[in-house]
Parts: sequence; C-alpha cells; structure tokens
Amino acid sequence: MPYGGTEVARGLQAGAGLVHRREMQRLVQGINVGMTRCPVCANEEKLALTERYDRFSIYSCPACEVQFAHPLSYSTNLYDELYSSGGLGLTRVRLSTHSSMVAKSHRMIGGPQYLALQWLKQNIPTPSPVLEVGFGGGWFLAALEHQGYIAMGIEVAKEPVELLKQRGFTVAQAPVNGLPPDWAAPRAVILFEVLEHLPDPVGFLRTVHENFPNAPLILSTPSPKRWCLRLGHREHHDYPPYHLIRWTERSLSLALRKAGYADAICEYPRIDPAEFYSTLLGFILARLHLLNMGSPDLALKDSHGQLLVSKAVEKSPGFWLRLHDAGLAVFRVLLTPVAWYFNRRGWSSASMLAIGLPLGWHKDAASA
Ligand SMILES: [Zn+2]
Repeated sequence: MPYGGTEVARGLQAGAGLVHRREMQRLVQGINVGMTRCPVCANEEKLALTERYDRFSIYSCPACEVQFAHPLSYSTNLYDELYSSGGLGLTRVRLSTHSSMVAKSHRMIGGPQYLALQWLKQNIPTPSPVLEVGFGGGWFLAALEHQGYIAMGIEVAKEPVELLKQRGFTVAQAPVNGLPPDWAAPRAVILFEVLEHLPDPVGFLRTVHENFPNAPLILSTPSPKRWCLRLGHREHHDYPPYHLIRWTERSLSLALRKAGYADAICEYPRIDPAEFYSTLLGFILARLHLLNMGSPDLALKDSHGQLLVSKAVEKSPGFWLRLHDAGLAVFRVLLTPVAWYFNRRGWSSASMLAIGLPLGWHKDAASA
C-alpha cells in the first residue's frame, strides 16, 4: 500500500472507483441476503458464524476458507463521504507535479506494489500499456511510468481522475467495461486493495477477465498472515461495511479460476517497517474518533459534517505531510530489526499479492 496518505483511505478510494453505482446496486440486489451463501464458492452448508459486528455477522466457509460479512451490503454514501473527507493521500497529489510524482513514486508504494512491479519487469516488456483499475492517489501509475510502461488508470470517482488528468496522466472516469476507445489494450491489469470491498468479487473478476482476456491480473488484498493479525490486532477498517470479505490464498485462487483465469499465483511480500507507522496511526485516529470508520456516528466533525482531522490537514497540508514523512522515515530506521524478526517468523506484509494468468498465457507470448 502506498504510505502517502492513510492506507485505509487509499484502499477505500480504490474500492469506490470500481463499479458504477447502478452496477453496484444491481450486484447487491442480485445477492439473496435472506439466505447465507459463500460469495466465492456458493457453498451454503456448515457455514460457521465466527463473529458479530454491528448489524453484520461474519461467517467462515469451510469449503473455500473465505470469511465474509452477512449481509453483503454496500452503501454508496459511505464512499462518497470518505472521498469528500479528504486526507493526506490526495493532498499530496495536489501539491505534486507529474514529474515529481514519477520521481518519488518508489517511496510511495508498498510491499505488494514492489512485487507487482518486479513481476511486470520480468514478464511484460516495456513500453507495454498497463491498466490500473481504481488507482486512488495514482502513485502506482507514476511508478509504472518510472519503469517505462504506458500507464493507464480508471476510477469511477471524479476527484482523483480530475487531479491526475490535470497532471498529465492517462486516466478516465470509467468502469472496467467502458475504457476510452482510443486507449490501447492493456498487457496487464492491476487491482490493488479492492476485492475485499466488493459484494460480488467473482462477478467483478469475471468482468475484468472478459474485457481483457489475454492480460494477467495482478491484485492485492489484506494478507491472512499479516503481522498485526499475528499480534492479535485486526485493524478497524477490516470490518464491514468497509471490508466485506477476508481472503486466503485458497479462496483467492478459487475466485480467480472461477472468473476464468487458468492459473493463480499468490505471494506474501516482506514487511516494510513503514507499515508499523501506518497501522499505529490508523489505530490512534480510530481510537480518538477521528476517522469515519469503526464508528462513523461518533466521528468528530464540524457543523458542516467535515471531519476535524481533514479540516486540520486542509489548513496546513505542507506541515502534516512533512510530519507524516518524518514519521515514516523514523519508523523505517528504528523498526527495521522488528520487521526482520517478524519476516523471519513467516509473518507477512499487510497485504498479499495474487496474479491470475489467462489460459495459454506465457512469458514469451507476452513479450512477442
Ligand atoms: Zn466458500
């Protein structure tokens, strides 16, 4: 995850940018909420109720190992509010130019994104077109350009599209099946921190595969082996209505195969000590009721409904960004031994990477 803003906001921005609102409503209505059924393998038997949270129940599916919220409900207001509430992620973009974003992109991306770039460099020649679906702050688009790829990004939300377009990136406000006609067919598709937000993940992956049948799909989602879970802490955003689905390697591979991909690879990135900072910051902000998640009704807002924390950021964005960067730098230096120790224990970065390979896809065909 990028560390420019809170990773949470980035994930949610990505989730908000995926499916047209009407399409999302159709997906939600299409699910029989009266009957509990696994959204990945459709199993209805022996689902285990593992947790209750607010008005949601969280079930585990013994057949595919996925955990999911019931009802699988989605509120568009939730994401609209998160977008309008700002945060450091888009603030940093506002203060950047195209070239400064490309130049510092490597510092703004996290473990899964590094692995994704590595995989691309080994398998897809430059300058091939690569599409990111739900690009949020656009830092991975900048990193793609830095590596020599033709980066294209889509989002349904307006604000990041306008910001990135003004800075000269190739972006559009479009759904997966509505790319601008003059764009080249992507040789790979990227989908970071999105799948855990969707009520019908297999249906969505199928749409991606149908639209780009020859392109590998590289995605990330919270890792079941992540260090903070191993320490007994589940982040405040890993609950419904934000995260509806908790993935494992098995369920993710199954979902990719059901969507039409012939093969799936899963990888666990090493821990970047900057994650300790992002997680701690999220924890503190949530505890102080300064975030819209966890308990949105209790979040501290002004009389216009703006979050106090985003109001503070708006007043002196430069100051908060410098403070944030200093925090990341300090954690990266001081907590490197801790990250090393956790990595040695087999614990992973906050997110895992999965790659869906289309039928008949191989490296040579991709570079031809
Ligand atoms: Zn299942």
